[in-house]
Amino acid sequence: MTPPPPGLRVIIVGGGLAGLVMGIMLDQAGIDYHILEQASRLRPLGTSISLHPVIMDLMAQLGLLEDMQKMSKPLRGISVLSANGRKMGRIDTRTNKRRHHHQAMVMSRPDLHEYLLSKIPPGKLTTGKRVIDITETQQDVTVTCMDETTYVGHIVVGADGAYSATRQIMYKKLKERGILPESDTKPLHFDKQCVVGMTSPLDPAKYPVLLDDSCEVKVLLGKDQHTSMWILPLQGNRLAWCVGGPDPHLIQNDDGDHSSHGSGSRSGRDWYPETAVEICEDVRNFKCPYGGSVMDLIESTPKGLVSKVLLEEKMYRTWYNGRVVLVGDACHKIVPFFGQGASQAILDCACLVNMFYDLTSNTTSSFTTIFQRYVDMRAETAKVASDSSREFADLIYEQGFKADVARNIVLRFTPTWLLRMITGTINSNRPNLKFLPLPKH
Ligand SMILES: Cc1cc2nc3c(=O)[nH]c(=O)nc-3n(C[C@H](O)[C@H](O)[C@H](O)COP(=O)(O)OP(=O)(O)OC[C@H]3O[C@@H](n4cnc5c(N)ncnc54)[C@H](O)[C@@H]3O)c2cc1C
Repeated sequence: MTPPPPGLRVIIVGGGLAGLVMGIMLDQAGIDYHILEQASRLRPLGTSISLHPVIMDLMAQLGLLEDMQKMSKPLRGISVLSANGRKMGRIDTRTNKRRHHHQAMVMSRPDLHEYLLSKIPPGKLTTGKRVIDITETQQDVTVTCMDETTYVGHIVVGADGAYSATRQIMYKKLKERGILPESDTKPLHFDKQCVVGMTSPLDPAKYPVLLDDSCEVKVLLGKDQHTSMWILPLQGNRLAWCVGGPDPHLIQNDDGDHSSHGSGSRSGRDWYPETAVEICEDVRNFKCPYGGSVMDLIESTPKGLVSKVLLEEKMYRTWYNGRVVLVGDACHKIVPFFGQGASQAILDCACLVNMFYDLTSNTTSSFTTIFQRYVDMRAETAKVASDSSREFADLIYEQGFKADVARNIVLRFTPTWLLRMITGTINSNRPNLKFLPLPKH
């Protein structure tokens, strides 16, 4: 194997999940990098995250898997109940362990974020650096932050999420040259929003489900599927919850448009007291599957661990230009109902870092070649993940007689072997990091 070209330096914009994983992979590939994060303090959403078996070998190669398994519970299944507790069906999410070696895992997102951050060596991530401009020459690329500091590298990786400034800067230039595809000029689409939270540690005597070694997700569906509540038991005697859905009176923009423009103003990670309380009120009378009231869970959640989020989605067509390339939510924003967004972001990172490792020169044309190969390898898979997430959301939330019948059939009668065959197909494409030893099974 050829080592990467000496002096290759990557600037990563964004210290979210994709940016941190990218940094950890580059570190182990021996490639120089620096992460710029706009927030002065990293504050991930107070919620759960489920990671797909497809990325577990990568985590094992990076030496992270064992710790992550300790922080998480394996995902066993998703039970769907009506608001009054009637069982509507169940999906078994266990994969064929012999064939795929791993199960999906569910953990606290703040725990995961903190863990990944602890793997970034000191001095490699700077907070309070909001990137506002990117300019390039034939030799290098310069990133300018809001505080007028600049960082120079050979490649910029935009890992700055759904409202990516990197993408907006890139697209502005492509639009001026008249070569930005029409679909990339359209804003992110959303037709659902939710409030997410994670309780403080609860008493297992009151909630025996907390003692369960695996995670069975409970989805409580309100009348006409307007509002739902998802509850996920986590390590550390905590329950993550998500209240929301496609209720139109909650989600329209002032102009009635179901789209959000890249300002970030409506993609709130902040506490929005009125709407958040209003959404949670919609589930007040839902029957809690563990006894007591679902409001007990909401009230056992520290305010700092409650956020309102829009559930946008969009597959962008343009993922790179010149020395700048996008990963994660910056190029494919996926609705979160199938636990795919983070796993797809990690797959993006693995694919790119393998290609960086193979680079023999630092020229723009060599980057164009590998960036196009990256898109060829990743775009189709990310689209399948996005489509399956959307289809799963439709299965749960769609209204009307036909949707009721479809929901009943799938939730009650889909045999486990068929589900395992479907997840087996998704699981079959499992990349490795070429510069690290393969994991032992
Ligand atoms: C409620 C919810 C539940 C989810 N559940 C799951 C799940 O169970 N499983 C799963 O796989 N996925 C899930 N997802 C999706 C997953 O969270 C995302 O796909 C993943 O976090 C994307 O990571 P990212 O690093 O690309 O973006 P982000 O996590 O958004 O990180 C972007 C980072 O860039 C920073 N940034 C932004 N602009 C700038 C700038 N100009 N300069 C510098 N820094 C900047 C931001 O502050 C942020 O830290 C869920 C999403 C939501 C909303």
